[in-house]
Amino acid sequence: MTDCLFCKIIAGDIPAEKLYEDDEVLAFRDIAPQAPVHFLVIPKKHIVDPAGVSEEDEKLIGKLMRIGSQIAAEEGVGDGFRIIYNNGAKAGQAVFHIHMHILGGKERPWPM
Ligand code: AMP
Repeated sequence: MTDCLFCKIIAGDIPAEKLYEDDEVLAFRDIAPQAPVHFLVIPKKHIVDPAGVSEEDEKLIGKLMRIGSQIAAEEGVGDGFRIIYNNGAKAGQAVFHIHMHILGGKERPWPM
């Protein structure tokens, strides 16, 4: 997707502070952190949003959870972090390439 911000980050056309990368998954710090630790984990495959996840993507989306949890531990928040997916503009989704937010470092961060 030429017009997708996160596809441009994957392609290296826009810089990001990368925390993890393999052939399927990329993780990088959120540019406007909402918690002391706030990073995004995305599939390199362009999937628009959680509602757009197909059966063939189920394993890939599960991998985001595993990799994100590993990074959370490396970032020192493995004992308490929140995972958020926004689906659709009404829910606050601004970038239409599925992304898992991981936020940590705040005690009992509910509501945000
Ligand atoms: P959402 O509102 O769920 O679509 O989240 C999009 C997230 O992407 C927001 O938390 C933004 O701060 C973050 N973001 C936007 N542009 C960048 C960027 N260039 N690098 C890192 N994070 C970004």
